[in-house]
Amino acid sequence: MRVLVVEDEPDLRSALILALRDEGYAVDEAADGIEGLEKAEDWDYDAIVLDLMLPGMNGFELLRDLRKTKQTPVLILTARESAEDNIRGLDLGADDYVKKPFELEVMLARLRALIRRSAGHGSNEVTIGDIEVDLNARVVKKSGKTIQLTAKELMLVEFLVQHRGRWISRTQLYDHLFDEMASTASNLLDVHVSRVRKKLGSDFIQTRRGVGYSIDPRG
Ligand code: CA
Repeated sequence: MRVLVVEDEPDLRSALILALRDEGYAVDEAADGIEGLEKAEDWDYDAIVLDLMLPGMNGFELLRDLRKTKQTPVLILTARESAEDNIRGLDLGADDYVKKPFELEVMLARLRALIRRSAGHGSNEVTIGDIEVDLNARVVKKSGKTIQLTAKELMLVEFLVQHRGRWISRTQLYDHLFDEMASTASNLLDVHVSRVRKKLGSDFIQTRRGVGYSIDPRG
């Protein structure tokens, strides 16, 4: 999953980016509302973490403009006490909010839930053959036994599971698993796919030449 963090406060922005990268997210960042909107319109992020008080263009304005073209899930960070502001954010199309100061774990859990809801799958637990994936606990089991995956391997599995049944192109996978600095010409993706296959079985992630990758493809 690839996330955009729009936050002007450098310490908080760094802390958010670190925590997200630790979880395997690809992360892009913006320090003001204008850059944030540009990036949000240019890329199909899996979610945006959006501060409300921003230089250039505030979070409300960014959200209002973004919603004219895109339905990217948005988690608002609000320092405001006023419930009205939070409601206003939700009215403008934010999907959820956390109030500052917050525990990073809480923010990460909200973000996971929000991405899962937007993928249209209500269920947290998915079984495909002998593989069970718990999207909430972030645990993958093979024949009942927990398999250790790296953060990036887990993210690859989660992304394909949330889009299971569909073929996902190589470019789409690069866009959602790596940040704007990664090159699609690299073999990063192949390395992760091959490691996941070694751990979860060679046919768990299927490949079709020229089409892409899929878990549990329908047709
Ligand atoms: Ca701010």
